[in-house]
Amino acid sequence: MRGRLWLPAVIALGANLGDREATLRAAVAEIAAIDGVRLEGASGIVESHAVKLDGVDEQAPNYLNAVVTVSCGLQPEHLLDELNRIEAEHGRVRAERWGDRTLDLDIVTFASFAQHDDRLTLPHPRAWERPFVIVPWLQLQPDAILPGHGRIAELVAAHSDEVWAYATSPLVTA
Ligand code: AMP
Repeated sequence: MRGRLWLPAVIALGANLGDREATLRAAVAEIAAIDGVRLEGASGIVESHAVKLDGVDEQAPNYLNAVVTVSCGLQPEHLLDELNRIEAEHGRVRAERWGDRTLDLDIVTFASFAQHDDRLTLPHPRAWERPFVIVPWLQLQPDAILPGHGRIAELVAAHSDEVWAYATSPLVTA
């Protein structure tokens, strides 16, 4: 596509309601189908306990999470519009901050962009402390650096026991 600048982005996916694995599989396909996005890689799926505002909630359904890497020819806000559309199509209802959800899609990094406004913060401000983001991201990009926080390999070391592999076939096959 002439004139379009393609930049790397990392997207985190999470689901803890409904058929979580089917939702993640559908969401990866839907991300790959966005006009202006090329899917580059997908992590395995990890599982973890839900974390609410006041800490780990073992009564809530567990989360499944994964990370995908893409090349993106859209502005970050336009990518977020598309991710919000996909969330909405999966029946996401924003009832409670950090509440249970059928699908959550976050932009973890967009090239080396640093921005903070009403709608979008890049890199994602909480990615560094979320093992369910950095553990699957590390699988995909062992040398990745999270701007402001350093090598994700080092961030993972402190948290690696908080998520576990969810046995399944790969999210995408080459
Ligand atoms: P949540 O309900 O936790 O998915 O938060 C979604 C809200 O976070 C939306 O209103 C987004 O506009 C905002 N947001 C800020 N930065 C990001 C980001 N990097 N990725 C996704 N959503 C973001």
